[in-house]
Order: sequence, then structure tokens, then C-alpha cells
Amino acid sequence: MRQKRAKAYRKLMALYSNTFGFRQPYQVLVDSEMCKSATDLRIELVKQLGSVLQGDVKPMITQCCIHELYLQGKAQQSAVDLAKNFERRKCNHREPIPGDECVFGVVGDTNKHRYVIATQSQPLRSRLRSIPAVPLVHINRAVIVLEPPSDATLRVKMSSEEKALYPAASDFALISTSSLVEPIHKKRKGAKAPNPLSIKKKIMGEDKETRGERQFHVQAQSRDSVRVGEKRKREDNHMTTDYPLLGVGDIKNKTPLKKRRRRKKVANISTDL
Ligand SMILES: [Zn+2]
Repeated sequence: MRQKRAKAYRKLMALYSNTFGFRQPYQVLVDSEMCKSATDLRIELVKQLGSVLQGDVKPMITQCCIHELYLQGKAQQSAVDLAKNFERRKCNHREPIPGDECVFGVVGDTNKHRYVIATQSQPLRSRLRSIPAVPLVHINRAVIVLEPPSDATLRVKMSSEEKALYPAASDFALISTSSLVEPIHKKRKGAKAPNPLSIKKKIMGEDKETRGERQFHVQAQSRDSVRVGEKRKREDNHMTTDYPLLGVGDIKNKTPLKKRRRRKKVANISTDL
């Protein structure tokens, strides 16, 4: 097999595996006509199927399909011998029906058993193209060919990819408040890190205990109370004396961060109490 085609087939089988859950050994439903073509053209069917699908294969044949071969008598004995090696797929058709109908029925609306269909019947292949996730294989001039994905297959693939991009409603329910808080926490961490010197100085500038007390007081007041304003004022004074070179804008930018950090700490204290 040419390199380019091998790559295309590998990609295609990856699609069937990833999106539709196909697993090795791939179950390949072979129809009677395929068995006949394979023996006529002396193709090592199972081996070739393995190289086209690029994995282990488990060839299967339905009861109705093998019955079709039996009906053709001695002329097709080699095809019957080939088919006898395959696993028999019970289709539960009491009276054998045409192979195409049987295979189509076994695949069903969704191909839930994940069959690869190997058939020489053009009408059957075109019917199966309307069902998503049905890999189709046929023999073309002594070469086994894996069809490109059908439009139905591609549509389902696209929609499943789109779904994967957005969280479902059930996923939203799983997101607890703790995971929502986490990013904020990270942000705080980031705010702390770049300016460690200023934080250190402030702690050194005042007694730890009084600081804690004041935090508690601030918490006791409501957020927008006058006290908060007062506090900020005091801080401003403090900052300007410690850092006379800092502009007012700098301080104003810093105070909100400081305030937020404090609130968190205070909140912890209140829960402890
Ligand atoms: Zn059947």
C-alpha cells in the first residue's frame, strides 16, 4: 500500500476509534460477494483487511450471507471454505433473506456493534452511507479499498467535537464554589509576589498585634462605612512618611490590593471565632 493511502487510512481509523469507539480487533462483516471476489482474485482477504484497517481484524459473516454462498453450489466451494473460517454472526433471520438486507439489518440505525462492512454491493454501500460510523470496504481491481468517511459520519464527528468545546449543563453543576474561588486566590498570590518588599516594610512598621486588632475592627464595620475611609487615610499618611518618593497614584493603586488581602484574613478570623 502506498504511503499516502496508508496515512489516510490510519487517520480515518483514528476517527472511527476516537469519535465512535471502534476497537481492535475490528469486526468486519464480510458479505458473500466479497468472499467470491477475494477467492476469484486470489486476495488474502483477512491479511489485506488487516493492512487496510491497520490493526487486528475479526472477519465475520452473517448466517444469511453464508447461506447465499451455499446456494451457489460447488462452483463457489473455495468461497464457502473461506467464509467458513469466519465467525458466524447470528442475525436471527429464520428464513434466509438477501445478504444486503441482512447486513443492513445487522448494522441497524447506529451500527452499535461497530462493524466494518466489507461488501461488493454498490446499492448496499450507498444505503450504509446514510448511517454514521460505518466504515465501508470493497475490492476495486484486486485492491481492497476503505471508503472515505460518509457525510453522515462527518456530521456526527463535527457535532461531537463542537459539544466537546463547551461544557454541558451537567458540567456546570459539577463546578463547585471552591473551584470558582480558586482563580481569585491565584490572583492574590500574584499580587503578593511582585512586591514583597513593600509588604515586609509595612509589617515592620507596625506592631503585629495592633495590626490584627485593627483588621478585626475594620471587619466589624460594614464595607462602605466611614471607617474604611479613615483607615485608608491613615495608611496614606503612613505610606507617605515611609516612602516619600512614591506618588499618590502609586499608593492609591496599592491600597485596594492591601484592603482585599486584609478582608480575607479578617474573614478567617471571624470564622474561627
Ligand atoms: Zn440474516
